[in-house]
Amino acid sequence: MFAVLINVIIILLIMKIFFKFMYPKPPRDFFPKEGDDTSLRHCDYCGHSLATYRGIVVHDDDKERFFCNDEHQSKFYKNNPSVP
Ligand SMILES: [Zn+2]
Repeated sequence: MFAVLINVIIILLIMKIFFKFMYPKPPRDFFPKEGDDTSLRHCDYCGHSLATYRGIVVHDDDKERFFCNDEHQSKFYKNNPSVP
């Protein structure tokens, strides 16, 4: 019985170490800071929803556009040359 308990304790310890290694904490920049806009927006290129502070907001003349990243931004303007 004692051997079973020791085995369980050792397995739990190993699992805990393993989980810390497999799922490290995300970097601090990943989380919103104070004053960040956390409202959800949809990317104008792929339609993916993302918190405003994690994407790029572009102010065109009359419309506000939102993109996940630089790549989607450049692709959007490449596909829509008529858009300023
Ligand atoms: Zn996108």
